[in-house]
Amino acid sequence: MIKPGSVISYIEMCLEEGVNLQRGMNFHLDGDISLILMSLRPNAPYTDRVEDNGRILIYEGHDVPKTLETPIPKIVDQAMKNPSGTLTQNGLFYEAAKKRQNGHGKPELVKVYEKLHPGIWVYNGIFELINAWQEKSNDRKVFKFKLQLTENSEYEDKRVKSKVELNHNRLIPSQVKMAVWKRDEGKCVICGSTDNLHFDHIIPFSKGGSSLVVENIQLLCARHNIAKRDKIE
Ligand SMILES: [Zn+2]
Repeated sequence: MIKPGSVISYIEMCLEEGVNLQRGMNFHLDGDISLILMSLRPNAPYTDRVEDNGRILIYEGHDVPKTLETPIPKIVDQAMKNPSGTLTQNGLFYEAAKKRQNGHGKPELVKVYEKLHPGIWVYNGIFELINAWQEKSNDRKVFKFKLQLTENSEYEDKRVKSKVELNHNRLIPSQVKMAVWKRDEGKCVICGSTDNLHFDHIIPFSKGGSSLVVENIQLLCARHNIAKRDKIE
């Protein structure tokens, strides 16, 4: 069972979603639910960032594909439309955000996965798309999307389908996740298992524990995560 904070391999992520994930932006991949892949790693191709103690994600749109006419996509404006006139992924997310701002339609729900290390991903949870705009960045126009972490979304409840209370779980900042991953050497701190790992709040968020400090976050396998929760309750 994947829940926010779960650490999974690329293959597990694809199995969970039932597709071979190639693109970073996937509008309405699963019915009404969209999916984005993000990375805050130093060499990441796009400048995504996290604000408001991890509740807000600012996600950068994507470049035009590299072609003979566009050998260096990084110096070209990001596109709203494809040459054929259809909307790009940027355009699809942008229009959905604008529609929502004008009071039309349901909120766009977006599942977010974050790259932690090559081949290693974290599920960050379900966000609501709340705004979109274009801005100048190094002499070209890029898209920015503002997403807010949902609290107790119905969709999440449906997915989880168990009585286990979601420990909500502010988004743990990427730097904290990376530092914890390194300190705990990618293993459960109790048994050393490398399967079904999860970023665990040592003092739960609901009991005042912080998501922002490395000292309050540890890696636990699913078994020890559940064992710990049973003990607290
Ligand atoms: Zn364990």
